[in-house]
Amino acid sequence: MTVPIAKLSFWGVRGSTPTVDPATSRYGGNTPCLELIAPDGTQIILDCGTGLRMLGSRWAAPNGGKTPETHILVTHYHWDHIQGIPFFSPLYVENNEFHFYSFRSKFLGRDSLKQVFEAQMALPYFPVDMSAMSAKRKFKEVDGGDSFNVGENKITARWLNHPQGCLGFRIETPAGTVAYATDNEPGDAKLDESLRELAAGADIFINDAQFTPEQLETTRKGWGHSSWLEGAKVARQMGAKTLVLFHHDPDSTDRMLDSILRQAREEFDSVFAASEGMVITLGAPGDRVQAHMPGARTALRREAQFHAKVCGVTEGGKDFEEETMVRDISLQGALISLKHLPRLQSELQVTMEAPGTDGLQAMNLRGYVVRIDAAPEKGHVAVGVVFTD
Ligand SMILES: [Zn+2]
Ligand SMILES: [Zn+2]
Repeated sequence: MTVPIAKLSFWGVRGSTPTVDPATSRYGGNTPCLELIAPDGTQIILDCGTGLRMLGSRWAAPNGGKTPETHILVTHYHWDHIQGIPFFSPLYVENNEFHFYSFRSKFLGRDSLKQVFEAQMALPYFPVDMSAMSAKRKFKEVDGGDSFNVGENKITARWLNHPQGCLGFRIETPAGTVAYATDNEPGDAKLDESLRELAAGADIFINDAQFTPEQLETTRKGWGHSSWLEGAKVARQMGAKTLVLFHHDPDSTDRMLDSILRQAREEFDSVFAASEGMVITLGAPGDRVQAHMPGARTALRREAQFHAKVCGVTEGGKDFEEETMVRDISLQGALISLKHLPRLQSELQVTMEAPGTDGLQAMNLRGYVVRIDAAPEKGHVAVGVVFTD
């Protein structure tokens, strides 16, 4: 007997606007887009932020192409949740079929989502209009409170507290339940209750964590977003198993998010900060919820044998310290003192010696000169390089 497993991939996790900044690159800069493959092969996409383009470029037709149907749930019409649509290449392939679900906006009336897409692709905002999209597209209106089935999965929509409205979705699959509740501000009793209904007993509860608890009480009150602390409270109260902090502020650097995650883990046992490329599987034997991070150091890796002392925290939350050997390291750049003055934006070949138990090893790298400063030693310059290969 095969075990039902669902796979949830995070293609975009940033809120409000994409960020292309080295300081935010580890968690990622694309705006909301998630993909859930249910055990029956049903493909569900949550939101169409800029992460959707990445999903399109690594497209694998659902069910091995036998039933190339994809269901796309759109929470609301703010830019960060729709901007990936024109750049989603599977929409330009005739055989594909997409079922879009969203609500009727009081600002747009009937066929709101269809109108949003058409307006977004109207000339002169985009070089081609919707007629260039040859895939089949169907639009379905859903309202807060609606439930419907897609394959053997049950989807429930609930209103959340956000300017111009936003839907949260709860997806129950045979492998487990995912609640997706982004763009939501606590403080409206009725809508807080909808959020709790979405989260109740969910295996994965994805919640808006754009602001810090302090911002939420002061400068960002009324902006339509939440904090890690509110997410942790709801998760604990409603018995959600794992909380995923989502919709990171574009001004939150990786270091700020590390600190937010650390604080959230003190409040609630099982928390992850959504990270671009992260995949969570549901229903696997043993651990029901397993998170996998993308290979972040596949480039520029060099074998080494450096002695090291490592201090950290175990899975069970205990501090540890251990002496060990670094087996390989990935390198981004270095500061090198030189008597010669290399040209800015030129290449340097750098060979470093790595001490090892079997004697010295040479580590060869190619660097790209990004800055040149005066060095502390007389007659030298300090050369900043980024390693390219
Ligand atoms: Zn948003
Ligand atoms: Zn929004």
